[in-house]
Amino acid sequence: MKKNHLLRQCVACRTMKERESLLRIVRTEEGFSVDRTETCGGRGAWICKDGACIDALLKKHGLDRSFKCRVSESSYEALAEELRKEL
Ligand SMILES: [Zn+2]
Repeated sequence: MKKNHLLRQCVACRTMKERESLLRIVRTEEGFSVDRTETCGGRGAWICKDGACIDALLKKHGLDRSFKCRVSESSYEALAEELRKEL
């Protein structure tokens, strides 16, 4: 049996990957943050552990669709900085 449910889609490149090769993004009161423990509840988005995907996320504003809201440029920049530390 194929375990497709273990795959998550990257919000930047839309590739399906196993969660081990992705980072989880969660919404917080301040904006967005990286969920290192993967235990935060609520809506999450996934992105490849890849600088190119982080750049693409910034450029394409991929989170607006995932979280169904308008995400500010400064929130994207703060998140991108946090994501790059995880690479
Ligand atoms: Zn990706």
